[in-house]
Amino acid sequence: MENKTGCLICGENLVYQSDYKTLDCYFCKGTFQSNVTCLNNHYVCDKCHSQSGIELIETYCLNSKSVNPIEMATEIMHSEKIKMHGPEHHFLVPAVLISSYCNAVNDESKPLKLETARKRAEKILGGFCGTHGNCGAGVGTGIFISVITHSTPLAKEEWSLSNLMTGKSLISIASHGGPRCCKRDVYLSILESIQFLKKKFDVSLDSSKVKCQFTDNNKECLKTSCLFYPIL
Ligand SMILES: [Zn+2]
Ligand SMILES: [Zn+2]
Repeated sequence: MENKTGCLICGENLVYQSDYKTLDCYFCKGTFQSNVTCLNNHYVCDKCHSQSGIELIETYCLNSKSVNPIEMATEIMHSEKIKMHGPEHHFLVPAVLISSYCNAVNDESKPLKLETARKRAEKILGGFCGTHGNCGAGVGTGIFISVITHSTPLAKEEWSLSNLMTGKSLISIASHGGPRCCKRDVYLSILESIQFLKKKFDVSLDSSKVKCQFTDNNKECLKTSCLFYPIL
């Protein structure tokens, strides 16, 4: 029997089986007994199902063991709770970077760092890119560096590194032109951060070649003029 309410991840129909199976939740990685998956075998537990986009990002990053922030961002952005464009991307960027950084260096304060980043990212309003010349995905990379270096307005080197990080992301974002695309700006910001982290902190994260899977949802997509447009 199929349900008209689609999968939270891929939008496919849900399928109810007569028997219960042991399934891993896509977001919190917890193990549950359930009789419902989508046609692509995705399972989301009841708790994760009722979370907002911001909560889902935090849950996913708390439980992920990945050191590849590009892959993490792509997985999260497949959730229907994350809009094509929207301010949740301002938290998504520092969240996947903090999570992969903590996983790479065995930093056990990941929960506190994620919470701090969430509170800071929530202050960056939607549309900041266009009205303040300050794309929130780019600012998210400054939040990332400020959190891992414990920067404050009075800090010296940490202050410099945080602002430099945002600057590098914004230059990359700006040089690829408008109109805004939260997916492109997320990927550009993460790629800049991976390089920055290697150069300034000697910490290596994994990366992936980006072939954007969201182009059909973006009516302003630059298509072949975007470096992430998937050429088949
Ligand atoms: Zn699915
Ligand atoms: Zn879950």
